[in-house]
Amino acid sequence: MGRLSGVPMRLAAEYLMRESVRIIGGGLAGSEAAWQLAERGHDVVVHEMRPIRPTPAHKTDRLAELVCSNTFKSTETTNAHGLLKAEMRVLGSLILEAADAARVPGGTALTVDREHFSRAVHERLTAHPHIRVVRDEVTALPDVGVVATGPLTSDALAAAIAAALGVESLAFYDAIAPIVAGDSVDEAVTFRASRYGKETMPNAALVTGTPRDHGDDGAYLNCPMSREQYEAFLDALVAADQARAHEFDAIPYFEGCMPIEEMARRGRDTLRFGPMKPVGLEDPRTGRRAYAVVQLRMEDRGGRMWNLVGFQTRLRYPEQQRVFRMIPGLENAEFLRYGSIHRNSYINSPATLSAHLAVRDRPTTLFAGQLTGVEGYTESSATGLLAGINLARLLDGEDVTLPPPTTMIGALYRYLREADPRYFQPMNANFGLLDELPTPVRDKRVKREQLAARALADLKTWADTTGIPTTRHAEDHAHAR
Ligand SMILES: Cc1cc2nc3c(=O)[nH]c(=O)nc-3n(C[C@H](O)[C@H](O)[C@H](O)COP(=O)(O)OP(=O)(O)OC[C@H]3O[C@@H](n4cnc5c(N)ncnc54)[C@H](O)[C@@H]3O)c2cc1C
Repeated sequence: MGRLSGVPMRLAAEYLMRESVRIIGGGLAGSEAAWQLAERGHDVVVHEMRPIRPTPAHKTDRLAELVCSNTFKSTETTNAHGLLKAEMRVLGSLILEAADAARVPGGTALTVDREHFSRAVHERLTAHPHIRVVRDEVTALPDVGVVATGPLTSDALAAAIAAALGVESLAFYDAIAPIVAGDSVDEAVTFRASRYGKETMPNAALVTGTPRDHGDDGAYLNCPMSREQYEAFLDALVAADQARAHEFDAIPYFEGCMPIEEMARRGRDTLRFGPMKPVGLEDPRTGRRAYAVVQLRMEDRGGRMWNLVGFQTRLRYPEQQRVFRMIPGLENAEFLRYGSIHRNSYINSPATLSAHLAVRDRPTTLFAGQLTGVEGYTESSATGLLAGINLARLLDGEDVTLPPPTTMIGALYRYLREADPRYFQPMNANFGLLDELPTPVRDKRVKREQLAARALADLKTWADTTGIPTTRHAEDHAHAR
C-alpha cells in the first residue's frame, strides 16, 4: 500500500553517500526533515540564512521559529489538524514532541510557549551528533537534500528554483478562494452547468461511484441569486471586517488576485460582470438566467471539495463564514479551507514535482514545507517528516513510499500530485481530502470518528509493511484520543 512506481528507486547508496545531505532552511519542515534523517544515521548539514539574512517575518535566529500564532490547532482526531498530528506522532515527529513539552493551556488546541518551543527544537538539533547547523544563504538546489525555505524563500534561491522547474512553477503570493464541503451544499437550490454548456473534459461531471454522479449536465455547481439576494450580499461583503495584513503582505492587486470585497467596492455591478456573471448559465429547472451566479468548481475527483470561483478574499474567517453563507445553497456550508491573500512562495507541485515532492529527474532533491503548497505549521512539519523519511530510504537504497490517501498525510500528498495545475492553490489539512468511507455515514461526528480510526489503522499498516518504525508512546497517545 502506498508504494510508488515510476521513480528511479534503487539508487546506488555508495554513490549517494559521497554527497552530504543538505537541508536548506531551518524552519519547521527543515528541522523535522533533518531530525528524521539524523535519527536514521545520516550526517546532515542544516543551512539557515538567519541571522545573516533576515526574513520580513522572523524575529530570532532560532531554528523552528513560529512566525505568527502560537498554536498548532486542535488535538482531537475528529478535527483534521488533530488527525494529522496523531499520524505525525505515530511516525515520531520531533516538532510535536517539542510542542508537547512547550504546551500552555489552550483548550483542545496544542498551544505552545513559542520561546520554549523553538529553543527545544534548536537544542535537540544542535546537540545531535549527526547534525551540523551552518548559517548561510543557499542560492542553488542541493543534489542530495531537502529544500524547505518556506513562504519567504530568499530571492536568489527562488530564482534557482524557477530556473530548475520553470518560471511558471513558482508563485510569490497566494490568492486563495474558500473551499466548502460538497455534502454541505444544498443541491435543491444549486444547479449543475458549465457556462454556455461548454466543457473540454469529456464526462467532466461524471465522477463514477461518488455521491455526485450527475452525468453530463455540467461541471460546475451554480448558486443562483435574485436581485434582492445580490444587493443584500453586496452590502454585507463591503461592510465585512478584513484581516489585518503584515506590512510586507501589501501585495499590489492585479487581475487574478483582487480580493472579492475589493472588486465589490468598485461598483455595484462589478461582480455581476466579473466572477458572479450569470451569462451562459441558464437554470435548467426554469430555463431562465439568474441576476447573478456564484460558481463552485470541483477541487477533487471525488467531488468532496468545491472552490468558490474568483472569491479570493482577505475577510476574517468568521466574516467569510457569515457573509458567504448568504449565498443561496451555501446557508449550511462547511468551510474546509478559508480564503486568504498572502505573500507566499510556493511551487506548483502537481505540475512540476514527483509524487514524493522531488525534482522529477533528480529524486534526491526534495522539497518540503509551505514551499510545496501546503498551508500551516502542522502541514509544513508533516511534509518535512515524510521528506526526511524518504530521503533516508533513498540513501539506504530503498524505495520511496507514501502513506495511502485514507490518511491525512497521504491525502495531502495526493492533493499535491493530483490537483489541477491550472488552479493550484495551497491547501491545509481537511476531511474533504480523504477517500470516502465504503458506506456513507450521515452523522458528521460519527463519520469523522470512523475516518480517523481508519486513517490511524491504515497508517500503522503502511508503516509496518514498509518497515518504518512507529513510536509506542505515539500510538498510545493516538489511540487514547
Ligand atoms: C507572516 C506569516 C504568518 C504566518 N502565520 C501562520 C500561523 O499563524 N499559523 C500557521 O499555521 N501558519 C502560518 N504561516 C505559514 C507559516 O509560514 C508556515 O506554516 C510555516 O512556518 C512554514 O514552515 P516552513 O518550514 O515551510 O517555513 P519556515 O518556517 O518559514 O522556514 C523556512 C526557513 O528557511 C530559511 N530560508 C529562506 N531562504 C533561505 C535560503 N536561501 N537559504 C537558507 N535559509 C533560507 C528562513 O530563514 C526560514 O527559517 C504564516 C506565514 C507568514 C509568512
